[in-house]
Amino acid sequence: MIETQGITKQYGNKTALNNISLTLKDGIYGLLGPNGAGKSTLMNIITGNLKPTAGIVRFNGENIYELGKKYRSVLGYAPQQQGLYDAFTGREFLSYMATLKCIPKGEMKSEIERALAAVNLTDAAKKPIGSYSGGMKQRILIAQAILGKPKILVLDEPTAGLDPKERVRIREKIKELSGDKIIIVSTHVVSDIQSIADEIILLKEGEIADMNTVENLCVKYKCENDLEQIYMQLFGEDGGYD
Ligand code: ADP
Ligand code: MG
Repeated sequence: MIETQGITKQYGNKTALNNISLTLKDGIYGLLGPNGAGKSTLMNIITGNLKPTAGIVRFNGENIYELGKKYRSVLGYAPQQQGLYDAFTGREFLSYMATLKCIPKGEMKSEIERALAAVNLTDAAKKPIGSYSGGMKQRILIAQAILGKPKILVLDEPTAGLDPKERVRIREKIKELSGDKIIIVSTHVVSDIQSIADEIILLKEGEIADMNTVENLCVKYKCENDLEQIYMQLFGEDGGYD
């Protein structure tokens, strides 16, 4: 279980997040909000890559900063900024990431092949990442995130820049990966998460506008199982679409 308690993040005098308190259990959470809402900032704080100005993140009751390496070993993170190494092949990139993640030598090879197969990149593993399509680049990022079978998976806009077909594939992949895991997926596109998320976290200007199942949100906002309408109500027509 992850708990964020009173997370606030200031960049200078800009408040990117204001007093975010969340409890996340096993399941898929869709973090939904337009560009600039604070999704990446929240994910960076939950993954321990960014210190909040105030507040605390706990994993199973313990402060993630005190857990340190122990926390990082249960965490898979695919950041929005692709720090991809175009000259590396897919397999080389995963091998590099597996080393950084301190995956035991004896398990490395099988773990890399498992991750490649999970995102259907086994056949492309010999090719340089520079030659990959946008969808393949996103999938190799997801593959590195699942190395070591992490208990927590944080995927920041895994469908950004993808065409509709590729979006569906990534969405289904995320669904497949779920189970006894906490998965947080951010997006500003409702259809990416409407069908797969157990709960939706609506983030507006650094605050949680609402959080609930799609079903309950649709009852509350009186829209017929169409989250898009809620998005429009909360964020307006130009809510950060591509
Ligand atoms: P999202 O991922 O939802 O698009 P971000 O978390 O990237 O939102 O950004 C939230 C807000 O914080 C935005 O207004 C953004 O401009 C601001 N911001 C993000 N990172 C920085 C930074 N390093 N310095 C200053 N402002 C930042
Ligand atoms: Mg972002």
